Amino acid sequence: MFGEGLLTGMGVTWKHFWGKKETFCYPEEKLPMTERFRGGHLVLDHKKCIACSLCSLACPNQAIKLKIVPDAKKKRHMQSYVHLVGRCLYCNLCVEACNMHALAWDKNYAISTWHKEEMEDELVTAEGLAYFHETMEKAKAEAEEEAKAKAEAEAQKAEGGDA
Ligand code: SF4
Ligand code: SF4
Repeated sequence: MFGEGLLTGMGVTWKHFWGKKETFCYPEEKLPMTERFRGGHLVLDHKKCIACSLCSLACPNQAIKLKIVPDAKKKRHMQSYVHLVGRCLYCNLCVEACNMHALAWDKNYAISTWHKEEMEDELVTAEGLAYFHETMEKAKAEAEEEAKAKAEAEAQKAEGGDA
């Protein structure tokens, strides 16, 4: 029949016009990613991180650069955590290696850029850096306090020995 194909096509259009929408307005709208989606930027929870370096050692492509500083009590702290996005394979080995569950993906898949320098993510935020300095100062004060108490105890012991 003449025009049968046209009518069939219009029927399909009509059905989809009133049906469930399969498209969305990207980039204003973004699809929520699944639980196991690996992608976007790495996010570090600075309060959970114990600066053990396991994530960096697990990375097969050397995409993680860390700056770890010991405090006055020899405990390690994360001062800088750089994720080299351009080198990343999104294999998730770093996240799996972290026993403290301090690493996660933000699942924001729209991370393309024109600028190479934007492909190096510093995961230690301003808040994380403030926490780092605060912890270092606290450890220094505690170490000084302990050293003072030890010196006093030794002096008292020496005095007791002289008497
Ligand atoms: S996802 Fe894989 S390649 Fe990327 S930083 Fe983690 S371990 Fe390295
Ligand atoms: S493995 Fe986890 S706790 Fe250890 S340095 Fe990496 S993020 Fe921090």
